[in-house]
Amino acid sequence: MTGWLAIAGLGPGDPDLVTPEVTAALAQATDVIGYVPYVARVAARDGLTLHPSDNRVELDRAAHALRLADEGRRVVVVSSGDPSVFAMAAAVFEALEAGPAAWRALDIRVLPGITAMLAASARAGAPLGHDFCAINLSDNLKPWGMIERRIRLAAEADFAIAFYNPRSKARPDTLDDAFAVLRASCRDVRPVLFARAVSTPDEMLDIVPLPDAHGAMADMRTMVIVGSSQTRIIARPVGPILYTPRSAS
Ligand code: SAH
Repeated sequence: MTGWLAIAGLGPGDPDLVTPEVTAALAQATDVIGYVPYVARVAARDGLTLHPSDNRVELDRAAHALRLADEGRRVVVVSSGDPSVFAMAAAVFEALEAGPAAWRALDIRVLPGITAMLAASARAGAPLGHDFCAINLSDNLKPWGMIERRIRLAAEADFAIAFYNPRSKARPDTLDDAFAVLRASCRDVRPVLFARAVSTPDEMLDIVPLPDAHGAMADMRTMVIVGSSQTRIIARPVGPILYTPRSAS
């Protein structure tokens, strides 16, 4: 059996948002590896071994996937959203770079998925319609000082900003700290989108002006998008549309 490794994105939650390419890879797989809730989204079947693991063991999980593919198995590493966005693809390549030379001959593919910021943006309208950036607010893998600096400079450059991992039980204050940096960096009132559990039955959307935005409005399943100074709201009886015009002056 010729082994291969696919690093796949399962999208934001709705099965309709999984690409046919990812569905085909899962149908051919012998092994699926990933964080517990993501592996739970893959249906069990004969001939498929599921390997759910804890979130904190990314590099071990990546090395495990490479070892299995090297033994001839057909392995899919799953992430939510897109596997390159704050997820497993980079971890697999880190393990590949540090691992045995033989791993470099393996058939490895990254299968993209719909990342949370694009799913959230689509639900609200088009807040990412002009230049934007994405910042991971988790300081597990980088110092808070670096995050603070990036937020300040992104606000100064007038990007719309998509915040991943805005808040967790271990980091209850990070989003409030990020809002404080934003308030100090931009005088204008920017709209803030809280998009929770997009494309799942628990989905909730809320838009508030930056002065009224509080960390407690988000959890680990929330995507927070802060508009640029140009981002606008169209009021409608059926709910507002948030968008950033394509041109800026
Ligand atoms: N690789 C993933 C991101 C992993 S980081 C992707 O491309 O989407 C995990 C963070 O993504 C969460 O803390 C949350 O901020 C965001 N997220 C993931 N799924 C989401 C969803 N369905 N709705 C809103 N935010 C989501």
